[in-house]
Amino acid sequence: MQAGDHQVKAKSVWGKCCDLIAAHITQEEYQNLFEPLIAESFVDGKLILTLPSYYFYELLERRYVPVLRDALNRVVGEHATLEYSILVDPQQGVSQHHELSPSPARPAPQAAQPSKGIQSPFQNKAAQVPDFITDNQLQENYTFENFIEGECNRLARSAGLAVSQKPGLKNFNPLFLYGSVGLGKTHLVQAIGNRIKTVEPGRFVLYVSCEKFTDQFMEALRNNQVQNFTNYYNTVDVLIIDDVHHLSGKTQTQEIFFSIFNSLYLANKQIIMTSDRQPKEIATLTDRLESRMTWGLMADIQQPDYETKVAIIRQKMYKDGVEIPKEVVSFIAESVEKSIRELESVINGVIFEAFLDKTDVNIELAKRAMNRIFQRIESMDIDFIKEQVASYFKIPVEDLEGIGRKKEIVYARQIAMYMAKNFTKSSLKAIGKQFGDRDHTTVMHALDKVNKELESNEGLKKAIEEIKSRFKAEAAA
Ligand code: ADP
Ligand code: MG
Repeated sequence: MQAGDHQVKAKSVWGKCCDLIAAHITQEEYQNLFEPLIAESFVDGKLILTLPSYYFYELLERRYVPVLRDALNRVVGEHATLEYSILVDPQQGVSQHHELSPSPARPAPQAAQPSKGIQSPFQNKAAQVPDFITDNQLQENYTFENFIEGECNRLARSAGLAVSQKPGLKNFNPLFLYGSVGLGKTHLVQAIGNRIKTVEPGRFVLYVSCEKFTDQFMEALRNNQVQNFTNYYNTVDVLIIDDVHHLSGKTQTQEIFFSIFNSLYLANKQIIMTSDRQPKEIATLTDRLESRMTWGLMADIQQPDYETKVAIIRQKMYKDGVEIPKEVVSFIAESVEKSIRELESVINGVIFEAFLDKTDVNIELAKRAMNRIFQRIESMDIDFIKEQVASYFKIPVEDLEGIGRKKEIVYARQIAMYMAKNFTKSSLKAIGKQFGDRDHTTVMHALDKVNKELESNEGLKKAIEEIKSRFKAEAAA
């Protein structure tokens, strides 16, 4: 086939996909997001699409993977794959192409395979794991190159670099990074994993969130597969386990993690952990596990300082090919205080506003975008709060409304009520009504309880911060 044929074929395949996609989204979404995409080529079931900017990539990945996947499956078949190529500088036309990976349907690349006969818990339930998640769970866009260094993360970053140069070295093992939500822990540890993979592709690097680790373990326990589970983790060369504060209260998972930790440590394999607090602040962590966590190198990440925020805004705008006046950069940097995730959602909101308006970014637009985000937070409805809180605590929404008196449920319910009071304009009575028709005094009691506890309970503060930051991310999305 000639190169031209590939493009003709690509256009035809993409055209059919578009017809299916258009049926599932609004006309506005379709015009803004899908019409500007160009089908570049189609060879051996792989469709390459050119996107006008990185922003399109983020939006597609964030919201449209299922629709894209479904359309491709129906038009091309299950084996279809998709790759994006991004125009870096829209001003200058097709000057440079960037190939970006995690395409929704990319086959898992050849990771170093664990020894035969051991089944990866990541593949056990293939149906539930989207196939663009590769076996080592590393995301290629989290790199050191795009991790901005600043006062707030200097120590953690250099610790990370050191580990990525010499994984397994006793002084750096384990590496324990801690800091509040949205400050770059996941990005940094993923960057370490990616760097090690680049330098030594043969090493088996595995990233896993502590929650996923726990789920896999529970599943293994149910299916009598604990040995298999342990064997699998013991074959890892670099184990990155994210958000270990979730080990709190999980005795069995702590035990199995302790045993895996020991085997890996003795074999000079690198272990990297993140947490939103120091080991000694993780409630109910066994002493021996707490002490293991502090054996190596510990570093914290702090809230971003002004310069770091400015650098991050610039980088992101540049990546998206958006021009942004200085005053808008300072305005955004000053308005967002706590987390980089929040900063990113504001930047996205601003770009999106400019995109809808088809104008350049200016200060009025930035203010408008910001108001929109914060207003949406203010007018957040109770249902939304219930959903977020329930998902945070991994319980069904109905439990928040129900009569259950189990400690965890009561706790989650009280937090949800507290957030409803703080995030909506609803009265105590109205809130009570939405929580299983409870009396307003019950709500008052919940608020008192949470307020009091907030004075001393760091964990609760963090939980609320995290749920709040989910609101903001959702509101800006
Ligand atoms: P955490 O794991 O601490 O909650 P994440 O690693 O998920 O935070 O970071 C939140 C977002 O902020 C991510 O999109 C990440 O890429 C971005 N981010 C965080 N720190 C930096 C940094 N120093 N430079 C660039 N982007 C960053
Ligand atoms: Mg994280």
